[in-house]
Amino acid sequence: MLASLLRAFCWTALAAAPLSASCSGAGGEAGAEARIERPDFPGEEAHRLVARQVAFGPRIPGTPGHQRQLDWMRAWLAERADTLEVQSFTSLTTYGESLNLTNLLARFHPGRPDRILLVAHWDTRPRADQSATPEEREQPVLGANDGASGTAVLLQLAELLARNPPPIGVDLLFVDGEDYGPSTADMFLGARYFAENKPADYKPLYGVLIDMIGDQQPRFPIEGYSSQAAPEVVHRVWSVAAELGYGDVFVQENAGSISDDHMPLNEGGIRTIDIIDFEYGPGNRFWHTPQDVLENTSPDGLEMVGEVLTELIFRGG
Ligand SMILES: [Zn+2]
Repeated sequence: MLASLLRAFCWTALAAAPLSASCSGAGGEAGAEARIERPDFPGEEAHRLVARQVAFGPRIPGTPGHQRQLDWMRAWLAERADTLEVQSFTSLTTYGESLNLTNLLARFHPGRPDRILLVAHWDTRPRADQSATPEEREQPVLGANDGASGTAVLLQLAELLARNPPPIGVDLLFVDGEDYGPSTADMFLGARYFAENKPADYKPLYGVLIDMIGDQQPRFPIEGYSSQAAPEVVHRVWSVAAELGYGDVFVQENAGSISDDHMPLNEGGIRTIDIIDFEYGPGNRFWHTPQDVLENTSPDGLEMVGEVLTELIFRGG
């Protein structure tokens, strides 16, 4: 997309006139010279994977859309990862419902001790409980942003890493049952299960959770629980984002704490932060509503998050 073109232009400009070139165009490429030699992360292609997921319908545990998405992800990851681990489990909700859930762990260089863990949830919320009207509150959430955006970036990374083997081990974890709810007692189910059922001697350098990254005006302030649990990881990720020229989106601003999949992972001993946009649409009006649709998302945040994760991977963590 546009950012890639600007970057290409910046490299050319720097080579031609290293002392006078300025690369602070739209898309925030001011730090492009800090970028290491590595493949580009394609935001537009990742956004097409959001569209693929939304086309399955809502991905609520126990529904056909959930099964279709699972089958598709399994095939996609089996083709691209070095190994694919499938964690199938049953979770009993506080209302006595039995949910059949599945986490997928796609691994690159599974034997390497130096590795990082990247996480997104792939399920969607059964009811749009933040909607304005009682009728809408009974509808499911399609989850273009809340579910599909983070999943799309990790699926696109699987493609990128299949073509460009990383210099460290990378684990892509797709967790189920994040957004079942309605209360947090019945959320983060897949992350909780993974934290209790990790691969043997599993000690990644750190973990990065990505969630709600597809807003048309992406903005990622620092989430509170992340800076409490893993301040050095926050520093690392936000510094790399600034070096890539994304300092106006990965803002150095402390935001509130959000309960999310990173909490059980931290409790399970994996130092994990959350890259999350606190505002989906003006005033957060699309969050957990039937308006969480493809048309309200964009490739921009996907590309920036994908670029930051790719940079971290190819810098060695
Ligand atoms: Zn949600």
